[in-house]
Amino acid sequence: MAIPHQYRIAPTNPAAHIYEVTVTVAQPESAGQEFAIPAWIPGSYMIRDYARHVVAVRAESDGREVALEKLDKSRWRAAATDRALTLILEIFAHDESVRGAHLDATHGFFNGTCVFPAVVGQESQRCDVEIVAPESPYGKNWRVATSMRRDGAAEYGFGRYTAADYAELIDHPVECSALSIGEFEVGGIPHAIAIRGKTRVDMARLCRDLQVVCEQQVSFLGAPADLDRYLFLLNAPGSGYGGLEHRWSSALVCGRENLPARRDDAVSNEYRTFLGLVSHEYFHLWNVKRMKPAAFTPYDLTQETHTGLLWVFEGITSYYDDLALVRSGMISTESYLELLGQTVTRVLRGAGRRRQSVQESSFDAWTKFYKQDANAPNAIVSYYAKGALIALCLDLKLRTETTGSVSLDDVMHAAWQRWGESGEGMPEDGFEKLCIEMSGLDLQDFFNATVRGTGELPLDALLKSHGVDVELRRSAGAEDKGGKSAEDGTLVPVWLGANLAARNGKTIFVSVDNNGSAERAGVSPGDELVALDGLRVDTDTCEKRSRRYRPQDKSTLTVFRGDELIELHLKWQEAPVDTCYLVSADETDDEVAARRSAWLGQ
Ligand SMILES: [Zn+2]
Repeated sequence: MAIPHQYRIAPTNPAAHIYEVTVTVAQPESAGQEFAIPAWIPGSYMIRDYARHVVAVRAESDGREVALEKLDKSRWRAAATDRALTLILEIFAHDESVRGAHLDATHGFFNGTCVFPAVVGQESQRCDVEIVAPESPYGKNWRVATSMRRDGAAEYGFGRYTAADYAELIDHPVECSALSIGEFEVGGIPHAIAIRGKTRVDMARLCRDLQVVCEQQVSFLGAPADLDRYLFLLNAPGSGYGGLEHRWSSALVCGRENLPARRDDAVSNEYRTFLGLVSHEYFHLWNVKRMKPAAFTPYDLTQETHTGLLWVFEGITSYYDDLALVRSGMISTESYLELLGQTVTRVLRGAGRRRQSVQESSFDAWTKFYKQDANAPNAIVSYYAKGALIALCLDLKLRTETTGSVSLDDVMHAAWQRWGESGEGMPEDGFEKLCIEMSGLDLQDFFNATVRGTGELPLDALLKSHGVDVELRRSAGAEDKGGKSAEDGTLVPVWLGANLAARNGKTIFVSVDNNGSAERAGVSPGDELVALDGLRVDTDTCEKRSRRYRPQDKSTLTVFRGDELIELHLKWQEAPVDTCYLVSADETDDEVAARRSAWLGQ
């Protein structure tokens, strides 16, 4: 039997953010052993070249130095040896994101992609890992939270862990700090949440609510056969939002004010945002971590891996994340419709939806969605937000046109059986074919228009058939995310057509909308806004002042482009009707009411 690879990670210098990582290979390849560090991490579709954080690397065998050749940006080859070979790396870790590795005096966090080199050609071998505690004065009260299987380490302790192979090794992020930990069960499976940061959270309530959300999803697709544990790793700083999914865990960042305080029973908007994030990452344990595009089976972590299906794996997940909240009773129908109205608003406000389809957005995620520049609002569409709305339209269309006998729920069940439980990758045309096969409907035009096209989605009629009216209005200002009605007097009558942000005390045009008032006046992204009609303005006051103008009024904008002060002549355009809110229709016949409760599960 092959001897497992022995990995070891030690926070040798927290003040300098340095981990020392070693990997010992018992039987190196006879022609010389290659090692490789991933260029990207599954779930975050951008080349990150984690090997660039390697500060020093060497190899030894039997106590003697072994020659090491660097082959490219991410690979090394050690000279041939017939004894056990050890690679020793010093790695700089100062990326606080869920995709990175970080180490300082207060905590350590890492993804295996950032710190563990693969033993090329022997990736299927078992990987044993020793996670070493930092030396005093660091590490007081630190515990270890990871979904990696323990192999001698005490519960939440430093020590020995193990993973079935390299793919699994890099799928278990690890957090080491003075953690708050809560535990609960979902269908008899142990679940936990480990929180870094000073939160003063109501842990009992948090666990109760997470249990409700997770149970809803387990009851939907059924617990995967290999799901015997699950861990939410949460970093709760002053502000932030994001997550990364794994098979047995997820790494989350969410502001500490989003967490429930003691003696607080309502679901605040902030807490709803957190629950939506949790629900999203948990749904991924089916959709993308076990059922995945054929292009990801297996992952090629050396280069971009293109698929047009991210709208299925992120968009449908974004549809079910909030839907699980209303179906589980965690939020009301009204609250759910508010969230949906905000998603519609987000999509409507992005002019890029008329230029790029979600299939193109999926395919080009690597260089566009993940590398957004000043022109992004004009050029790209989010496969998350528009993908969620396509999922909604598809669900409601299937329900309506099959008179309730087939829904997106049924398609997801069948997809899970076909590609999730089998582990076979979903072909690029697999999802659409399955929808057509299951419903017996001709859905070609629907997919051409919504997934490959850039027209408007048929939201009005489909929501109407489920007792929900779509209402549109103008924006009430920069803070207005939609989802709710607004008083007439609060609406902004004119449209600047640009996004402003405060940067180092300056007010900068970060993006300029195609055909908006600003673009027609000659504003460029990067211009510094100084004055509007001779009065100094910033992000706040510019919006306030703009409420005094009417369409066709003329203004002078004073801006710095570089160090040159220039005057631009602007004609105000009418504000677009780009803000959506949804309302339950007053008079709903029984059939419509039945359709709505079947959809929302109430
Ligand atoms: Zn996601």
